[in-house]
Amino acid sequence: MSRTRRGTVGMAAAQTLGSGRIPRVPFTKEMKDEYTILAPIMAPIHFAFIKNIFTNAGYRVELLDNCGQNVVEEGLKYVHNDTCYPALLVIGQMLDALRSGKYDLSKTALLMSQTGGGCRASNYIFLLRRALKKAGFDEIPVISFNLSGLEKNSGFRLTLPLIYQMLAGLVYGDGLMALSNQVKPYEREKGAAASLVEAWIARITGQFNRKKGYSMKEMGDNFSRMAADFDAVPRDHVPKVKVGIVGEIYVKYASLGNNNLEDFLASQDCEVMVPGLLDFMLYTLDGKVENHKLYGGGGADARIRAAIGKYIMRMQDVMINAIAAYPDFVPPSRFSHTKSLAEGVIGAGCQMGEGWLLTAEMVELVEKGYGNIVCTQPFGCLPNHICGKGMIRKIRETEPSANIVPIDYDPSATRVNQENRIKLMLAVARENMDKGQGTPKKQKPGDSVPGRLDRSDPRRRWWSRLPSHA
Ligand code: SF4
Repeated sequence: MSRTRRGTVGMAAAQTLGSGRIPRVPFTKEMKDEYTILAPIMAPIHFAFIKNIFTNAGYRVELLDNCGQNVVEEGLKYVHNDTCYPALLVIGQMLDALRSGKYDLSKTALLMSQTGGGCRASNYIFLLRRALKKAGFDEIPVISFNLSGLEKNSGFRLTLPLIYQMLAGLVYGDGLMALSNQVKPYEREKGAAASLVEAWIARITGQFNRKKGYSMKEMGDNFSRMAADFDAVPRDHVPKVKVGIVGEIYVKYASLGNNNLEDFLASQDCEVMVPGLLDFMLYTLDGKVENHKLYGGGGADARIRAAIGKYIMRMQDVMINAIAAYPDFVPPSRFSHTKSLAEGVIGAGCQMGEGWLLTAEMVELVEKGYGNIVCTQPFGCLPNHICGKGMIRKIRETEPSANIVPIDYDPSATRVNQENRIKLMLAVARENMDKGQGTPKKQKPGDSVPGRLDRSDPRRRWWSRLPSHA
């Protein structure tokens, strides 16, 4: 349908808020029933839950899966080329979808997350509105998806049950991702793990629809059955190179951002481990708590966030305990443990981008036996270059078995070049595997790792090497 053919709801959308050259089009209550909300996909399993939760709540949400050169070109055309690559891709993907002819543009809205932190991700939404205006789509409402009360829309409200379900969805997403990644490379019948993922997403969505599935008890029961289902998949236990993926949150999870990295690693006969999305949420909550400890102020906010974090960590425990009951599976680490791994390597005050979490995840992967690591780094991302690529030497001082390759993702980087660099890392990994080096799969948090310095070793404490001021 033409963009000029607008109904009454469309006319309402055309009323703009705010002043200045880039107006904000509100998403009103009337739009909720009629509009299709287009949102980018990041982590497919987690986002499938989120989409279903919003569908249950009466929204029409569609996750965008358009990809290809068109997306990059749209991004390059309407987003400044110095901007972070994830912003360029997501905005390009939305513009490409709007031009595809698939949607009635008088009844289409876009959804973009706004982190509210100090990083540029808080401003992607303004870049999107600017791009829409330049491309002639300035009457399309853009909904800010945030938990910090940054922008509000009368037609899009994050109610308490929705937030509960989304949190539970993230925990389920982390559990399903961990289990399927450890079963898929070994399954005898191709597609068995993927079918189980689909079945469990549908089952849990059905429970959410009946206001069930997100109490601790129900989650514990679901995770026990889920782990048992995956454990029952017939598999061949052939040794494979174990590769961890870390990096900036979008390029780490989104196949559009990382050129289908997980598929490429599967084609190279690898087993992949990707740290969960829940840890990123806990990391953002923990930021204010650490800031309070480091700089003072914001005590009430810090206490509230610490309490919410504690509750989420209990949910995480439920998932970890259920998976840990099966010796074949390596469960995700507890957030508190992941955080402790950063001690002596990077300060908890490093909170731009993925901050200390990115460094801690690399140490965690080494600890779990996934020390061959691809560190995905988008163009324009200064904080993650520091906490990712910038920390590799430091990590290798304490974790000599770490075999980390930083890979840059930007519009001009070729897939061939990226894959060749990863292949070099895999060649070293295979050599180590043949020599029996590296770490065993069943490594549990806290076990000693060959060649790794003990946490009490003074060489892990960088401050011990600082010149004395005495
Ligand atoms: S983390 Fe990096 S890519 Fe993401 S907004 Fe910040 S600078 Fe940009």
